[in-house]
Amino acid sequence: MNFETMMNLFSRRGILFPSSEIYDNHPSGFWDYGPYGAAIKRKLTELWRSDVVKRTGMLEIDGSICMDADVFRASGHLESFADPLVECVKCGSIFRADKLIEEVSKEKAPEGMAPEKFDSLISKYGVKCQSCKSPLGKTRKFNMMFRVSVGASKPQDAYLRPETCQSIFADFPRLMKVMKKSLPVGIAQVGKSFRNEISPRNAVIRAREFTQAEAEIFFDPGKPGVEKFKDMENYRLNLKSAKDRADYAPVTAKEAVNKKMMSEFAAYYLSVMQQFLVKCGLPAEKIRNRQLDGEERAFYAKESWDTEVKTSLGWVEIVANNNRTDYDMSAHGKISGKDVSVVSAETNEKFVPHIWEISMGMDRLFYCVMESSYKKEGERAYLSLPSYIAPYHVAVFPLVNKDGLPGKGAEVAAVLSSAGFDTDSETKDSIGKRYARADEIGIPFCITVDNETMSDNAVTIRHRDTKNQERVKINELACKLRELMD
Ligand SMILES: [Zn+2]
Repeated sequence: MNFETMMNLFSRRGILFPSSEIYDNHPSGFWDYGPYGAAIKRKLTELWRSDVVKRTGMLEIDGSICMDADVFRASGHLESFADPLVECVKCGSIFRADKLIEEVSKEKAPEGMAPEKFDSLISKYGVKCQSCKSPLGKTRKFNMMFRVSVGASKPQDAYLRPETCQSIFADFPRLMKVMKKSLPVGIAQVGKSFRNEISPRNAVIRAREFTQAEAEIFFDPGKPGVEKFKDMENYRLNLKSAKDRADYAPVTAKEAVNKKMMSEFAAYYLSVMQQFLVKCGLPAEKIRNRQLDGEERAFYAKESWDTEVKTSLGWVEIVANNNRTDYDMSAHGKISGKDVSVVSAETNEKFVPHIWEISMGMDRLFYCVMESSYKKEGERAYLSLPSYIAPYHVAVFPLVNKDGLPGKGAEVAAVLSSAGFDTDSETKDSIGKRYARADEIGIPFCITVDNETMSDNAVTIRHRDTKNQERVKINELACKLRELMD
């Protein structure tokens, strides 16, 4: 399904819409999730928590969004977290040089290049202003962090974090001291990050405020194995090589390591993540892990894979997987002057831990799951979300709004709620319209209470994907629904 159809659905059902929208000149790149969207995003987050964080034995923290400027001096963001920007000499329109060059020439222009390199590509391809076709000025770098001023008397510079991992790095020395863990140790966090994008676009695909779910696995570079590798060794990974050749046929994690396509860390955690994405409802054939090389890869990274999902907008990166070496911890140790090293249990020697990072964009995951589950059958549209991702497990509908049916419906809804089902109920409009609304937000089961219910104490279950209906006794309803969800 295409992007416009999804945005239309999001807006019509209040799933996702622009923040501050009642004000005409609100800044772009900020989005609010309404009740259904918030519920789906929360359930995706819970699934990440159970299938990634808990499953692999990680710790989870909840760090502050606003952080000391020195954190970003150490991380390099103050110096180099900047987008290449070009301005039209005539009309003043502003563009991202890398995106503009890619659009015009179809040549990749990695955003990390020096400004002069962008200038030479702009003249090579004769790139002009997209609004008025005038020449463009020189490329300059624009820092994308949001600066905030903290305190009243002597305001101190701080920044809204551009990535959640920085609090994990800064908290690592304390966590090692208090949590009594030995390496490798994974520390995870889900939360908001902020980037002052020059041209936010495609809604939550490139927004200025977004939710990340990140995991940092701290390890001893002398022992780069994963203890639980056996659990995942037969999982089949979809891979794409760095040089953009044809996709590999899916290979097992074990084969990928034996053939030296990747490290054991990469094979294990890419498998954990791919399996998680499939469980979110994304078909395996729409997922690929693409190896990054050369200028695409961050200078400090030793091994990099982007996990991408195929959408109507093309392949969208939703997880960045990187071996960040000791770059982060060494830098924080140096700027803070604190000891960030750990002591090896075997050799008793001190070393700075290396890090395998799994950085996921929750909003991008949300979009990809919604788009890939959107189905259209004639006039009917529905989201084929897995029941544990749907905003409600079940909706209870009295057939008509009279004859005691609403009261009976409320009774059934209360039984289901107390049995642990997320339960919606509605009495407005015809039953057909209510089914259509439930389908469109992905509720897997609708329960209809009709006149016969009053005598036979049974209701009808309607299945979202097949539209099949079956009659079930109210006292067997919870059991039946649980069975259907499994
Ligand atoms: Zn112009």
